[in-house]
Amino acid sequence: MELIALAVPFFLLALLLEFAVDRVRGTGYYRTNDAINSLSAGTLSVTFGYFTRLLPAVIWGYVLQNFALIEVDPAWFDVSPLGLLLWALALISFDFCYYWAHRMGHEISILWAAHAVHHQSEEYNLSTALRQTSTGFLFTWLFYLPLFLFGMPFEVFVTVNALDLIYQFWVHTRHIDRLGWMERIFVTPSNHRVHHAQNDIYIDRNYGGILIIWDRLFGTFQDEQEDEPVLFGVRKPLANWNPFWANLQVYDYLWFDAVRTARWRDKLGIWVRRTGWRPADMEHAYPKSEADLATFDKYDPRFSSSVRRYVLAQYIVAAVGVLWIGGVFAQEGPMAVLLPCLLLWAALFGIGLVSEGRAGAKRFEWIRLLILMPLGAWFLVELGLVNITVPGVFWGLLLVYSALSLGLLARVNA
Ligand SMILES: [Zn+2]
Ligand SMILES: [Zn+2]
Repeated sequence: MELIALAVPFFLLALLLEFAVDRVRGTGYYRTNDAINSLSAGTLSVTFGYFTRLLPAVIWGYVLQNFALIEVDPAWFDVSPLGLLLWALALISFDFCYYWAHRMGHEISILWAAHAVHHQSEEYNLSTALRQTSTGFLFTWLFYLPLFLFGMPFEVFVTVNALDLIYQFWVHTRHIDRLGWMERIFVTPSNHRVHHAQNDIYIDRNYGGILIIWDRLFGTFQDEQEDEPVLFGVRKPLANWNPFWANLQVYDYLWFDAVRTARWRDKLGIWVRRTGWRPADMEHAYPKSEADLATFDKYDPRFSSSVRRYVLAQYIVAAVGVLWIGGVFAQEGPMAVLLPCLLLWAALFGIGLVSEGRAGAKRFEWIRLLILMPLGAWFLVELGLVNITVPGVFWGLLLVYSALSLGLLARVNA
């Protein structure tokens, strides 16, 4: 994941640039509440990943060690012509598996429960690219097992995985039109916009990561049509700004049906059948109205400017916190970042509540910040005052942050 960490500053710069272009052109493709929610989901995904990424890695490592059909030496992957050819082959093989992981992520209910997070935004901009799931670790690894059966060295896998994900960042924009011949071979902004659409003709299309060729080959390709503007989002809208709920929403409605339906076959079937399938008794007892796209309204509770200021300030601090946490994780592993992650997640939760204008949001923030203050002070004395240490500085800054935030919170009126 080294490469992705290196790419983060470029992601942020590109995001700011796109935001500026959006303002200059007056296109209105960015909404503060939506972008902050997408970035919060991304932040949660990265930090939650510190504690879950081991599971797939252990399984892949085990398969590679015990069941690999070919023994592949990582040293073959160098910058010689043959080495580069092997890299290209590895990337294309990864992209092929990605296509199937992604396609099944839409077509099978329990896999959709994880992937839906990426699609809940009703806008489409570079912040949508960073909107990623926190529960993908549960099953997605299955689709990459073939690579390890063919002996792909783990470090090669990590690199091509990162390259595939980094490629997908730039296609999440409405500011780039169709790109001629590239549309036939590569995933582009235009054909990926189709992938994020709710429109009947676009839904469940264009699953490719880097290559769109897979969709053309397996019959899931759809071009963006001039006369059919894309409506972004999912058919069962998230309709809130809570990044935790974003990750649980689909599991929740599958669970709702699974515990109430009568037959055991259906209780199990709900999870593994085609997305959208429901048992007949549940369709009858709890019918769900079809989404009417003609009257589709974006979820957009209004912000007062004091709320906007507060939420933006909180998210910027959270983003800086993530960079720091990432650095500590790389040096010292997951246990060293557990407490900072818990504090960060509480901040993301609070940001969601305040953005929704919920009753009780301010109370949650008061309590959160008032807990942070003595915690910051205690750690500062414990770790920092004797001689200045990095953790000491962190907890000291946390103290300053909570004091300033309390001041800002006092001025919030919803
Ligand atoms: Zn998707
Ligand atoms: Zn996407």
